[in-house]
Amino acid sequence: MDFALTEEQMMLKTNVRSFLEKEILPVVDEYEKQGALTKEATVSFIKQLIPFGYLVGFLPEEYGGSILEAKTNGVLLEELARIWAGFAGTLFIAAGFWWLLNEAGSPEQKERLLPLAAAGDYIGCIALTEANVGSDVAGVETTANLKGDTYILNGTKMWISNGSIADAAFVLATTDKTQGPLGMSFFLVEKDKSPFSARELHKLGLRSFPTSELSFDDCPVPKENLVDPGAGYQRTMAFFDVSRAMVGVFSTGIAQAAIDASIKYAQDRTQFGRPIGSFQMVQEMLVDMIAETEAGRLLSFRALDLLDKGEKCRWQSSLAKAYATEAAVRTTSKAIQIHGAMGLSEEYPVERYFRDARSLTIPDGTTQMQKLIVGRDALGIRAFV
Ligand SMILES: Cc1cc2nc3c(=O)[nH]c(=O)nc-3n(C[C@H](O)[C@H](O)[C@H](O)COP(=O)(O)OP(=O)(O)OC[C@H]3O[C@@H](n4cnc5c(N)ncnc54)[C@H](O)[C@@H]3O)c2cc1C
Repeated sequence: MDFALTEEQMMLKTNVRSFLEKEILPVVDEYEKQGALTKEATVSFIKQLIPFGYLVGFLPEEYGGSILEAKTNGVLLEELARIWAGFAGTLFIAAGFWWLLNEAGSPEQKERLLPLAAAGDYIGCIALTEANVGSDVAGVETTANLKGDTYILNGTKMWISNGSIADAAFVLATTDKTQGPLGMSFFLVEKDKSPFSARELHKLGLRSFPTSELSFDDCPVPKENLVDPGAGYQRTMAFFDVSRAMVGVFSTGIAQAAIDASIKYAQDRTQFGRPIGSFQMVQEMLVDMIAETEAGRLLSFRALDLLDKGEKCRWQSSLAKAYATEAAVRTTSKAIQIHGAMGLSEEYPVERYFRDARSLTIPDGTTQMQKLIVGRDALGIRAFV
């Protein structure tokens, strides 16, 4: 089992870290306080990051991408999450939209839209969740009915990342309820042709990362925008194999930021005439944080390594997501403890790290659902349908 980073990946990590610390870190607090990022601000940050491989790292060169390994994409995401988790969320989903189009789109859909990816100003989102449909993705209630050459979409999607700034959405809908998951497909809903409305939903963490309610009210979608008919559920599961490992990496980035901040604070802050880092119980907290973050990183990169080798990684991605996200919550909570009262203040970044980490145990399937997937594979017994 060898999934060490190559020399090139190490160099990329160093270069991107230095760019993010110099150019992006100084403005993070200002933008986080403003809440969900505007489309304009999003695009301006994305354009700065594309040269490192962000956004199009999963795309082939013919579409301006760089076909980076999943592990290299992981390195990029971890570094961005370490500096600014809210924006890492936006970039992660924007890249996920292009990934899904490249994987599942028809040749016509790909030829028409993929050339727009590399410019960075066309933003996508992926809409599965609804008011009555969360963990049970197969229960999607949004409907698509064919009338002539047009599908008419009706339904409301909830908590859709990038929803309010999106130019297009992959919307999971059912065309035939009697067929269960086999009657579900994605629809490529382009806002200029198929208008839908968005309402921003406020949340505890990842505040600059838009999460929105999207309403499709007799929304007309051209027939040719149906994506891989009947495979919507399967495509969603394949997306989760990648996204769950990536959310593991994402959480690792936040946890690493909490460790780095805590080390500095424990060296600088003195009590009883000594740096607090000299107290064994403070050291113990730090070592627990390091151990759990290393473990989360290894699990996540192991899943990405399987992806790079073209091997199945369903339970490994779920395990990485379940472990790394929960570990990041414990790690960022300990970071607050090490900072004492200052840890609760906005003067230090650790309260943001905690809020951001806490927000990641839910998307892409909750911790409990990930555990049920690992349990199903280990036991050969399903605890859910
Ligand atoms: C930051 C963020 C970004 C998101 N982005 C998107 C997005 O881009 N697109 C999108 O479609 N959705 C998105 N979501 C929604 C997310 O995918 C759902 O919130 C998630 O799948 C859980 O669904 P739910 O919130 O309805 O919880 P529910 O499914 O109602 O679960 C509630 C609780 O019940 C537990 N539970 C449910 N079923 C079981 C079971 N069988 N066994 C044991 N426990 C169970 C859950 O673990 C949880 O603790 C996002 C959410 C967040 C927080």
